[in-house]
Amino acid sequence: KNAAPQVYDTAAIQKADSAHYLHPFTDFQDLASKGARVMVRGEGVYLWDSQGKKIVDGMSGLWCVNVGYGRTSISQAVYRQMETLPFYNSFFGTTNVPAVQLAAKLAQISPPQFQHVFFTSSGSEANDTNLRMVRRYWDLLGYKERHTIISRHNAYHGSTVAGASLGGMDGMHAQGGLPIPGIVHIGQPNYLEAGHGLTPEEFGLKAAGWLEEKILEVGPDKVAAFIGEPVQGAGGVIIPPSTYWPEIQRICDKYGILLIADEVICGFGRLGRWFGSELFGIRPDLITFAKGVTSGYVPLGGVMVGERVAKVLIEQGGEFTHGYTYSGHPVACAAALENIRIIEEEGLVNKVAEDTGPYLKQRFASLGEHPLVGYADSCGLVAGLNLVRKKGATVHENELFDEEQGVGMICRGHMFDNGVIMRAVGERMIVAPPLVMTRAQIDEMTDLIRLCLDKTH
Ligand code: PLP
Repeated sequence: KNAAPQVYDTAAIQKADSAHYLHPFTDFQDLASKGARVMVRGEGVYLWDSQGKKIVDGMSGLWCVNVGYGRTSISQAVYRQMETLPFYNSFFGTTNVPAVQLAAKLAQISPPQFQHVFFTSSGSEANDTNLRMVRRYWDLLGYKERHTIISRHNAYHGSTVAGASLGGMDGMHAQGGLPIPGIVHIGQPNYLEAGHGLTPEEFGLKAAGWLEEKILEVGPDKVAAFIGEPVQGAGGVIIPPSTYWPEIQRICDKYGILLIADEVICGFGRLGRWFGSELFGIRPDLITFAKGVTSGYVPLGGVMVGERVAKVLIEQGGEFTHGYTYSGHPVACAAALENIRIIEEEGLVNKVAEDTGPYLKQRFASLGEHPLVGYADSCGLVAGLNLVRKKGATVHENELFDEEQGVGMICRGHMFDNGVIMRAVGERMIVAPPLVMTRAQIDEMTDLIRLCLDKTH
């Protein structure tokens, strides 16, 4: 199995890498000076690099390899589909069988308001689709002014021009003239940063209230939609207080604003539900998905379109002039069908809800007792911990490291060297392991994390 060559010339690969390959989100010169780590093989929750080192993949690749590496039934499904029909588009009156089957399957596993799906190849393209779709929806209803979309600071919604504009990351907005017009941002429900003097529940209501303030500032008749990740991922695993989402839902309902749940990370079992919005009891009108739909084996994304929007688009819309060559790609859809079959057969959604999610929470709570950790929390199989110089009496009184010290990156370096992948967002260290991770593997991962915290201390 995985008949990869055993010996790699790492230096030669690194040389060619820096000579020709511009990596995403990378300081090219910095990478060239250090040399990229070359990953060559994966099995279950483990990766191997070109020097034969085994690594626990605490990040599921990039939050996507939900069913773990080395699933031959997915590669076989992909192979069979490539042999049968490697490509055909869904433009101009045609369709293909895996795309139809997957659309029906997604309608079955998503909340009842979702009966339709628009396919893309990535989460970014899906959010571009959202932007155009919600504006088209309001145009068709005769509200042509209703084009503003409200998002949150530090949100991540992709890297295309619309995706990065919807996202709220200053570093991205600083490059390329973003955000584009018609997109505004409010604060994120980050209790650690903004919840001083409040209980988490009080803070959740306060943070949701920023949405209402922004709606009133922009004008309710100009706001098309609010977009948010149920749990913010790339912004640092920001798990909102329990009061936040129900209040957001109430405000969206009050002003008739569409609610878009970006579930690119939270979907397909990550939070112990098929979709994270189910955990928080909200009823989005649109759901963005990608990553876990195929466990990253083949690129695929899309938008689940709720009946409120679908009905208008279908019955009043005529042609929707939007789409991608690879919308409904048969090979990607075949991979997704097999991936979802595995998730169902192995009961991975319930396993996260009832077994490994609570276990990870317990293990992270014990990491929270480490002198370097000022705060640790988790939701399903995402978790984070904050590195602090000194703990205070409350989480708001912790003494923080100076950003310039780069303690998060130092800690991440120890993780990398000691065989576990954890991501650093400033001083917040995060994991999102494959949903197949067992309790014993959670122990292995958290023991390695503890070791690296000791080394960082
Ligand atoms: N939305 C969220 C919540 C994400 O986390 C990501 C990627 O990390 C995206 C959208 C963009 O997806 P992609 O990288 O597939 O374009």
